[in-house]
Amino acid sequence: MMVSDVADLLIKEFGEKKIKISKDYLDKYGRDWYKGIEARPSAIFFPEDEKDIRDLIIFANKHKHPIVPSGGRTGLNGGATAANNEIVVSSEKLNKIQWLSDRNQIKCQSGVITDNAKEFALENNRLLPISFSATSSSTIGGNLATNAAGAKFIRYGATKEYVASIKVVLASGELIELRKDVLKDATGPNLMELFFGSEGALGFITEVTLNTFPLPAYTENILINFNDINLIQEKILKTNNKNIISAVEFWDSNCQKLFNKEKNNNYEVLIELAADSETEINKCLEDIANLNADVSLLNSKQTNELWSKREEIPVKLADLNAYKLDICIPIKNLKSYLNEIYKIDLDKEVYCFGHLGDGNVHVNIVSDTNLEELKSKIYELTISLNGSPSAEHGIGQRKKHIWADFSYYSDKLKLLKSLKKSMDPNNILCPKVFFN
Ligand SMILES: Cc1cc2nc3c(=O)[nH]c(=O)nc-3n(C[C@H](O)[C@H](O)[C@H](O)COP(=O)(O)OP(=O)(O)OC[C@H]3O[C@@H](n4cnc5c(N)ncnc54)[C@H](O)[C@@H]3O)c2cc1C
Repeated sequence: MMVSDVADLLIKEFGEKKIKISKDYLDKYGRDWYKGIEARPSAIFFPEDEKDIRDLIIFANKHKHPIVPSGGRTGLNGGATAANNEIVVSSEKLNKIQWLSDRNQIKCQSGVITDNAKEFALENNRLLPISFSATSSSTIGGNLATNAAGAKFIRYGATKEYVASIKVVLASGELIELRKDVLKDATGPNLMELFFGSEGALGFITEVTLNTFPLPAYTENILINFNDINLIQEKILKTNNKNIISAVEFWDSNCQKLFNKEKNNNYEVLIELAADSETEINKCLEDIANLNADVSLLNSKQTNELWSKREEIPVKLADLNAYKLDICIPIKNLKSYLNEIYKIDLDKEVYCFGHLGDGNVHVNIVSDTNLEELKSKIYELTISLNGSPSAEHGIGQRKKHIWADFSYYSDKLKLLKSLKKSMDPNNILCPKVFFN
């Protein structure tokens, strides 16, 4: 169907308040953070409730016209980019939020901005530990659809770990609810998992109930300059002190230079300690002080500055047009992985930072001439160490090549394709994304 025909039909059926087709809307809502794919949406739809989404999905099936769910558009791989005349379905107006005081849970629509949900938890003296630099724009629905993690993974796990229930509109138009109220549940596989990381291709998440956590009574932050990854891994992360660590963010000397800082050491690591007793924190600080490393205990001003610096790294690298790889390596292989990368990259074009506690390294290549060569060598190295090419950013349209490169995902791909076929026979949900 012609783009103008779809737009006319949509306006006729849903009205001009919910359907936008002007250039400013198409430009703004047609794509995510990744600028490498041109956006060509046919229209932007702003549903106000689940019925609107169901009606649109029925429309899409009837006209065999594809749609792309869209949240805060902070995705890094073109998952929310409508490159082929898809109708973008924005969750922007799905922003209701409610506190369930008897269970310390947040019940919210999927378009609630992540920081608003975190703030809401804080107002109720609780912690929602989703922590990364894009949470001022990302949405709870987008976080789950990409299986987002971040700095606090080491202590609290990925966002999906806090989910008590979700509602999803399937490609058939049916609205379903899946719950996880108990710790043990042997009623078959946990099917909620199907939608975590499914990047909009298996259903539109409309509502989410999230568990929250007690606020830690004491926190401290420290900065360590170091040369050997094993110092952090063996002497800190493999001791009982790990239990009170809530973030271990590292960056290499190339990243330090983004802040015009020359360093003698290879890495800096920002560690957040959080505990209910001061004694536990002091014991941990004492152990770390005895490591004979370059350690600084940060006051609150320095802590804020260091966290801002950490969050600025991906933004500064994006300004340099960096190609971003989001690798996860089995922790025992991390030291050799980083050593090998710097052997490949003799021209210092590769910038590494990330989450040391879970083996997630964001490898960024800033090179006009060596990009393809460096990329394929780094992927080869990742494969040789049984790593993942996507720790927390998903696949989108940009990284679909990984299915061919990483042969150990071939059975997963087969299963995903057959699920997709049975759940979305008309292929209307994100037909160009991810595994399609
Ligand atoms: C500077 C920067 C730093 C980042 N750091 C991190 C990090 O540390 N950790 C991390 O995990 N991510 C990080 N990201 C990536 C990004 O913020 C996350 O992937 C985030 O979860 C995306 O949420 P969103 O609402 O913006 O989703 P969008 O970008 O709008 O969409 C992402 C995908 O989810 C689908 N989708 C969106 N909403 C729904 C819905 N309601 N139902 C079904 N599918 C939906 C879309 O179709 C698309 O495929 C970073 C991004 C930036 C720009």
